[in-house]
Amino acid sequence: MTTRPNPILIIGSLAFDDLDMPSGHYRNVLGGAALYASLAASVLAPGSVRIVGVIGDDFPEEHLGDLRSRGIDTAGVERAAGLTFRWHGRYSDDLASRTTLDTRLNVFADFAPKIPAAYTDSPFVLLGNIHPNLQRGVLQQVARPQLVVADTMNFWIEREPSALADVLTRLDLLVINDEEARQLAGIHNLMKAAADIRRRGPKALVIKRGEFGALLFDDDGAFFVPAFPLEEVVDPTGAGDSFAGGLLGYLSARGEVTAPILRQAMFFAAAFGSFCVEGVGPSRLLAVRRSDLSARMDAFSRLVQHGPLALPGNQ
Ligand code: AMP
Repeated sequence: MTTRPNPILIIGSLAFDDLDMPSGHYRNVLGGAALYASLAASVLAPGSVRIVGVIGDDFPEEHLGDLRSRGIDTAGVERAAGLTFRWHGRYSDDLASRTTLDTRLNVFADFAPKIPAAYTDSPFVLLGNIHPNLQRGVLQQVARPQLVVADTMNFWIEREPSALADVLTRLDLLVINDEEARQLAGIHNLMKAAADIRRRGPKALVIKRGEFGALLFDDDGAFFVPAFPLEEVVDPTGAGDSFAGGLLGYLSARGEVTAPILRQAMFFAAAFGSFCVEGVGPSRLLAVRRSDLSARMDAFSRLVQHGPLALPGNQ
């Protein structure tokens, strides 16, 4: 018997990206935070992912078909007159940093998420990186979810501090990277920054550190998961969104959020981040099967498993 995971509502960008990588220049690559997150979540929660986003007339119907074929509900994707959101980024030779060369909001500029009536009961909600007022607008349209997770970015931390402060009070979990955490708290030390951010509202906080792993902070303390080590990293675009999608996919499949389950979810999140970076754009994520995930979780377990860490010596 298969258990049907609890619906996950994902709100965010759907995009075409132009990616300048050390390995080559890739144009019109399918992307966007909601796309990466929903692909990752759908592996563990097939038939339970619901996307709300906006696309332009230039977005081929077949891409939506690809999402639907993975059991992702695209009824909340609005098609507006104009062009789809576009992002152009260039990565450093070591892929450790990137520069945004161009952002064309296009139809995303007027995006005001309208949550279809059939989605308002979603117990798991992922508020992608959009204007904090729009994130709050989404929460006003849904019944009290079991878990509200949000992402944000430097742009909103700098320009909309009070709107963001309000959203923080409504979150169960905030998922951001280390640079954003330091900026949001105005504190360099990550442990102190995490405590400061949690005092502002989010019950739990995940700080992503790219190849250096991710930290979870909740009432049970701090928890660390490493990045899954890979011999070859191809394209980090979307890794953070895949991490969040994998986390939500696991929590939805488990159906409850406890401290131990959240810690297990961190490993699934990191596994999806690792799949994402193995291909250009979402190419590797699109190919991930449950059997690939299972093999990666086995390898991940072997990586971190150790016996008791008791001090040696006389009892
Ligand atoms: P990540 O690498 O996890 O930060 O996600 C990269 C994805 O986010 C790309 O596919 C972009 O299309 C999308 N993106 C970049 N900038 C923005 C933005 N300002 N708002 C929403 N989505 C964005």
